[in-house]
Amino acid sequence: MIEVEGLCKSFGTLEVVKNVNLTVRKGEIYSIIGPSGSGKSTLLRTLIHLEKASSGSIRIEGKEILNENGTPVHESKIRQRCRKLGMVFQNFNLFPHMTALENVIEGPLTVLKVSKAEALKKGEALLAKVGLADQKDQYPCTLSGGQKQRVAIARAMAMEPDIMLFDEPTSALDPELIGEVLSVIKKLASEHMTMIVVTHEMGFAREVSDQIVFMDEGCILEKASPDKLFNNPDHPRIKTFLEKMI
Ligand code: ATP
Ligand code: MG
Repeated sequence: MIEVEGLCKSFGTLEVVKNVNLTVRKGEIYSIIGPSGSGKSTLLRTLIHLEKASSGSIRIEGKEILNENGTPVHESKIRQRCRKLGMVFQNFNLFPHMTALENVIEGPLTVLKVSKAEALKKGEALLAKVGLADQKDQYPCTLSGGQKQRVAIARAMAMEPDIMLFDEPTSALDPELIGEVLSVIKKLASEHMTMIVVTHEMGFAREVSDQIVFMDEGCILEKASPDKLFNNPDHPRIKTFLEKMI
């Protein structure tokens, strides 16, 4: 579970995330949609502490990652708490000098300190789960975009996160490769993985999400069920956006 209260993030004088409140409970799937530049990526990056929040509160499984009783939480504790979050980026961010399997086992070996045998066993199982058992020894440069993204998902899952964050996981892909990545994410959804997915894939968002969050200019304009948000949004801005997306 992740609880966000009054979260703000500025770059200099530019306010990018403004007073965001959001609670995602265990097993829930939230999609975040909204125009380019509305702060979606910055929100996810702030949740996982790749950006430091300007103010507000983020609790992961009940543990604060910003300030506890007004005192900043120690950086090592933040890192430990953020380990409960896995993140998948638009551009895969795989280690280019490592094979698919090496990419997947790196975190468990170096961070979780599991044995090589255990890491390999789990890594192979995860690659099989994303349909890449046969590609385990290939380097990223020999994989398609869809395959790279599936390795990235397996790599994030290898850290056994409680919550997965996806930032436009299919927007760098050729249209015919989008489906294979979405189906892996759908599989995780069917296993009740808690997820926050920033996406432009409206059909996917509608199908898998418990709630859709619409962000505009750093604010959450509306948070609603897919039916409500897609059929009858409160805000005219959302209607205009959705009309343009279809
Ligand atoms: P897109 O749909 O295009 O990915 P987004 O909703 O993810 O957009 P962000 O990438 O979060 O939007 O960017 C929101 C705003 O914050 C933009 O105006 C962007 O230029 C600005 N921004 C993001 N990162 C930084 C940074 N590191 N330094 C300064 N400004 C930044
Ligand atoms: Mg973005």
